[in-house]
Amino acid sequence: MEKIWNRDFKKVRSYLSDIYALNQNKMPKNITILGAGISGLVAAHELKKLNHNVRVIEASNRIGGRIWTYRFGDKNGMHYGELGAMRIPFNHEFTHYYVHQMGLQHKLRKFITVLQNSECLIDVNNKVCRLKDAIDDIYPRYELSKNRNFRSKYTEPFAAGLKTVVDVMSPREIREVFAADLNNHLLDTIDTLFYEKNIQLKEDDLSLSNILPMLSKLKGNFKNVLNTYIKHIILESGSELYQIVGGMDQLPHNIAKDLQEEIRLNAEVTGIKLEDNRVKITINDNEQIYSDIVLCTIPFSVLREMKLEGFSEEKLDVINNLTYMGASKVLFYCKDRFWENDKYQIKEGASVSDQFIRQTYYPITLDGASNNKENPGVLLASYVIGEDSDYVASLNSNEQINMIKKSVGRFHPEIEDKDMIQDIAVVSWEKQKWTRGCSGVMWIGRKKYNLEAVIKSEKQMFFAGEHCSPDNAWIEGAITSALSQVAKIIQL
Ligand SMILES: Cc1cc2nc3c(=O)[nH]c(=O)nc-3n(C[C@H](O)[C@H](O)[C@H](O)COP(=O)(O)OP(=O)(O)OC[C@H]3O[C@@H](n4cnc5c(N)ncnc54)[C@H](O)[C@@H]3O)c2cc1C
Repeated sequence: MEKIWNRDFKKVRSYLSDIYALNQNKMPKNITILGAGISGLVAAHELKKLNHNVRVIEASNRIGGRIWTYRFGDKNGMHYGELGAMRIPFNHEFTHYYVHQMGLQHKLRKFITVLQNSECLIDVNNKVCRLKDAIDDIYPRYELSKNRNFRSKYTEPFAAGLKTVVDVMSPREIREVFAADLNNHLLDTIDTLFYEKNIQLKEDDLSLSNILPMLSKLKGNFKNVLNTYIKHIILESGSELYQIVGGMDQLPHNIAKDLQEEIRLNAEVTGIKLEDNRVKITINDNEQIYSDIVLCTIPFSVLREMKLEGFSEEKLDVINNLTYMGASKVLFYCKDRFWENDKYQIKEGASVSDQFIRQTYYPITLDGASNNKENPGVLLASYVIGEDSDYVASLNSNEQINMIKKSVGRFHPEIEDKDMIQDIAVVSWEKQKWTRGCSGVMWIGRKKYNLEAVIKSEKQMFFAGEHCSPDNAWIEGAITSALSQVAKIIQL
């Protein structure tokens, strides 16, 4: 952990000192920030530090937006689950910088992600086994070698492993593109890679977690959309992911500590009018405020629901049509951590499934007194995105819980024991009034946009948030987009 605690953050510090230099001799400005998610909070924190006057307008009764830690039991304790962001890749330097700045670095712990703990389970093609046994028990079920001759013995298990990875981690559109690629040329490409390039693998190198490092060798062989998505898969399943013990929401809360006066909660922006030299903002339908400069971090999926005046046709087109993908998470607060008992011996990591639950994550196992499997634990029973999430969101809450219990019960029958589940928390982000989606996506959907069009400012109004970044769907993207707009605003 030394490596993660003692980072010099050269790149971030140099980026910030450039911003501080731009601010020299500038008069304080009055800036209104819409949204108290991580993007709005980081912008407010930096602008305040540079002596500007900020106010943050937030619709909900909490800060943090898509960073949302849900606490069970005594509400302050260690029985929590993450309904939003849950892990930070090592190379997300700006996110780690703020974790350090907020004094949370010693709470960082490795996050064991999907496919990393080979003791976890896989439920695919009507067969349940440990991930470490997938090569023998699951891969042959794909029958990829039917009517085909491969020159390398690695081709079939590698392609089957890759299909498993894509199937459990991707939205439907991506799964379909991958299946089509596989049928067309991908199997031959993989065979050539192994045979002609003579890539040798140890037998157990074909376990699921070892499929991923091979992916970079295949870059350029997928359809475009898949090439983009593979980047997400590699990041999400990377070995260098971290979590903040005690809850990810400590990051926004610590940033907000010096913004108590500036943040206004329960203030929903319901209309925005761009006038000649100012912006008129309507709050809760009945109050008008004016601002010289506005930084809007509200997702476009929400922005398009409100009354917008004075915007260009081009900007309205992006706001109205940027595609948002859904995501649902279901937390089960279980009376004991049965997954750690002798039958399973699973500590952390995730099991995967081709049922509608897709990914089931086990919570962190802490040292000391709390390390007792008789104690309660919070299982992230299901994490799904895209159309799987739309399906989960379409069910009523009884149907949702029954479906998820049944699907988890295929590999953990204990979940159906009476009293095993003490409490439940469910979120479908596409149904959250102030998010309406998990993340903006530029590469799928009805209309595709350049990032430039998404970010482009309108008169005195600037845009930030995860949707305004190439690192969309990550905290990193939300932070870096905020900082780049701070740099623009201070130069006005
Ligand atoms: C299920 C899920 C899992 C994720 N996992 C990870 C992960 O593991 N690692 C990672 O780095 N990232 C992850 N992310 C992405 C990350 O959480 C987001 O990219 C980031 O938190 C977005 O921050 P933001 O400030 O751009 O937007 P938000 O957090 O959405 O903030 C926008 C704010 O605007 C407010 N708002 C909306 N409408 C109005 C209105 N009309 N008036 C006033 N205020 C309004 C909202 O209430 C919200 O507080 C995940 C996201 C989800 C949903």
